[in-house]
Amino acid sequence: MDRVRSQLAQISLLIGLLAVSGCYEPEPKPLIIGEVPPLILPPPEAPPAKHHVIGRSVKGRPIIVQTLGEGEDTVLIMATIHGSESAGTPLVDQLIDHLRHNRDLLQGRRVVLLPIANPDGMAAGTRENIRRIDLNRNFETPNRVNDETNGLRPLSEPESKALQSLIKEYKPDRIVSIHQPLTCIDYDGPARALATRMAQYCNLPVKKIGARPGSLGSYTGETLGIATITLELPAEASKDGEQALWDKYGKALLAAVLYPEHPF
Ligand SMILES: [Zn+2]
Repeated sequence: MDRVRSQLAQISLLIGLLAVSGCYEPEPKPLIIGEVPPLILPPPEAPPAKHHVIGRSVKGRPIIVQTLGEGEDTVLIMATIHGSESAGTPLVDQLIDHLRHNRDLLQGRRVVLLPIANPDGMAAGTRENIRRIDLNRNFETPNRVNDETNGLRPLSEPESKALQSLIKEYKPDRIVSIHQPLTCIDYDGPARALATRMAQYCNLPVKKIGARPGSLGSYTGETLGIATITLELPAEASKDGEQALWDKYGKALLAAVLYPEHPF
């Protein structure tokens, strides 16, 4: 028996040496095609919006507009012309994302989106721009008042100039500018029906506040005759996350984009 054991030990040692030296290889496992996992491709990425730098703030920050779709009908949706009223910015970002992924909504229309109209004010957390001028009082209108808050002359600020150029170039049929905290849908120009439509899709009431001197609404609504909505979100909207904002106000924005069609 000892002899047999000794021979077996020698054979094992020999196999071990051959394996270490690479002369002995165990049989490779046969490849079974059925076991190969199926190739799962990620869903195709929705094409991005086109980005345009329409100007720069006093501190040199780019003022960026994104556009989606093409067609006769143009709508401008913008936020944060008052830097401390910035809940509209994530809401516009959500709208961009929704339109990118639902391109059928863009049939026959161009949507122009300006998430941050006052980037310096937003960074500083101030209503005005960095020179303490209220950009929403800086437009050229019959009711304009020149002073140190409204600007000593119309369009004294690069941000309001960029916005005026944007409006002249794109000639929107409708404008929605998102503010806080008055909790209503205000309108200027021929926008009563649009305001009423938007109110059907959120819990904000229509309220005519009246055109403020040199405001965007005075300029685009009263002077140019463009249907202009001032969407005043509540102060608490600043605490809402993107999804909560979209759930509360997204349908109202889609109603403005698709007007006079209903979004649902
Ligand atoms: Zn405001």
